[in-house]
Amino acid sequence: MIIIDNYIGGSFHKPESGQYLDNVNPAVGEVFARTASSSSKDLEEAVRAATAAFDEWSRKTLAQRSKILHKLADLIDENLEDLARAESQDNGKPVALARRVDIPRAAANFRFFASAIINESSEAHVMEGEAVNYTRRAPLGVVGCISPWNLPLYLFTWKIAPALAAGNCVIAKPSEVTPYTAFLLCQLANEAGFPPGVLNVLHGRGAEIGQLLVDHPEVKAISFTGGTQTGRIIGQAAARQFKKVSLELGGKNPVVIFDDCHFEEAVRTTIESSFTNQGEICLCGSRIFIQEGIYERFKAAFVDRVRALKVGDPSKEVDMGALVSREHMEKVDTYVAGARTEGGKILTGGKRITLMNGFYYEPTVIEGLDEFCQINQEEVFGPVVTLIPFTDESDVVKKANSTPYGLAAVIWTENLKRAHAVAHQIKSGIIWINCWMLRDLRTPFGGMKSSGVGREGGSEALRFFTEPQNICVKL
Ligand code: NDP
Repeated sequence: MIIIDNYIGGSFHKPESGQYLDNVNPAVGEVFARTASSSSKDLEEAVRAATAAFDEWSRKTLAQRSKILHKLADLIDENLEDLARAESQDNGKPVALARRVDIPRAAANFRFFASAIINESSEAHVMEGEAVNYTRRAPLGVVGCISPWNLPLYLFTWKIAPALAAGNCVIAKPSEVTPYTAFLLCQLANEAGFPPGVLNVLHGRGAEIGQLLVDHPEVKAISFTGGTQTGRIIGQAAARQFKKVSLELGGKNPVVIFDDCHFEEAVRTTIESSFTNQGEICLCGSRIFIQEGIYERFKAAFVDRVRALKVGDPSKEVDMGALVSREHMEKVDTYVAGARTEGGKILTGGKRITLMNGFYYEPTVIEGLDEFCQINQEEVFGPVVTLIPFTDESDVVKKANSTPYGLAAVIWTENLKRAHAVAHQIKSGIIWINCWMLRDLRTPFGGMKSSGVGREGGSEALRFFTEPQNICVKL
């Protein structure tokens, strides 16, 4: 049995309570690891370690910090296979996907911010003949990073990399459902040369140790990715202490397919945007709006391809592995049952797959429901999409904007004028035109409306993890 302990002050520590949580491999439904269940005593120890390390870490030159981050990126690359297998075992995703996307992107996160701090330009404002102002960006101190279970290492590093690069000390809490790769990363952090206390990782339940982290007065900022409901709780708690908070939350992302799209590419990529990682990506498109003229043709081609998707043992060559947990699988199934009750027609899928005692679900396509039905309003976060016809631009803009969410959208058309016009009207933080998941780490990343507050990525992340200080010098 693997034991996942906390990482505090550069070494592994058993939780003060002596309590552990079961960690299940969703592909086979069996416990494979026990994870520390942390309490306030563990948090106090982590805060002490992080506070003590801050002076040394924040005084390091950018080049010194950059070198350590680069080293960690190299170590992730060297351990690609082990990390990919661990991610799959913990989350249920295909090993091949973790090998191709999750783990390389985790390394890329460190590499990107290692370079970004060196290449960032600074601001100066000259008052003619009188003075010069320059802006210094100082690290905040001890910061908290809370990440979800769907892209465990990828999103964990997406937060801790900019936080560390900017000179902060971090206390991170990965999801209790998928703590394994964060644990393995701590071993690599020691090898990379992070001074003890710069990175600390506490495991346990979100509502317990996560909430304590948010509430701790010495933790100066919280970067959170997760569900909208949890984001609301965290936002309220942080506001009481005027704590900086970045919230990356859920989505109900529209995919808009105009009749002048590149048909083949639109079908192929919409399969990916619907079912990659079992549909458990906040950026997956879940409401597919198809212009009336090609509705039937698109539906036939799309459903055909969905039926051909291979679901099964994530260690094999499959398109989809297992959902992350039994509870999540049941939640997905409840949404599908609700869609049936509301009059939705299941074109393919719609039920669990019994396999190896794991949590598998068929890729599911539903039609016949308007944009206000429950399944078109709430985030399912699984392999379930709906098809909805539309007439013209104004009709689809209205439909696309009809949820409380505004994270991502995809537009398929060969008419770029139309693509831009529609992109400007859809209320989403990220819009892809004729593509999906093409990510440039320099771009601002985040959602509008109930999909989030603030932006991450590139300079936005470095700004979040620093405090600007204006210094005015008389000439
Ligand atoms: P949750 O909101 O349940 O959990 C996210 C993280 O917060 C976990 O580490 C969780 O711990 C922790 N947590 C839970 N409650 C609290 C609390 N009261 N205080 C502090 N921390 C807490 O989300 P999921 O893990 O279920 O992730 C899925 C959600 O994440 C989806 O809604 C998805 O859209 C969203 N997401 C958003 C992304 C974006 O960039 N906008 C990207 C990826 C996912 P634990 O798991 O241990 O309970």
